[in-house]
Amino acid sequence: MTCREAERLVMPYINGSITDEELEGFLEHIETCENCREELEIYFTVDVGIRQLDQGTGTYNIKGALETALALSRQRIHTLHLLQTARYAVNTLCFWSVLMILIIQFRMWGQNGF
Ligand SMILES: [Zn+2]
Repeated sequence: MTCREAERLVMPYINGSITDEELEGFLEHIETCENCREELEIYFTVDVGIRQLDQGTGTYNIKGALETALALSRQRIHTLHLLQTARYAVNTLCFWSVLMILIIQFRMWGQNGF
């Protein structure tokens, strides 16, 4: 992902409208690119600051909040990957089960003289 793409995803990330595919690339980029991470921190701080004014909540650990948000996002990607692997495993298992059933069926037909 380029910096341009990452910058474009900062706002969707903050307001939660980013897609899972975009999220994965975005997180990778944010972890390696200092500039885009700073950009995200600035927008995140502004966003949290505005909400803080709205809700009138007291002091708030903004950097900690961003860390928490990023950790949750990483966890989400991790879970998605696990689900994908599980789905792949189940699909493979289903494929081989069907194949085995077919082989056994054909053998049974062969033995019955069809
Ligand atoms: Zn960047």
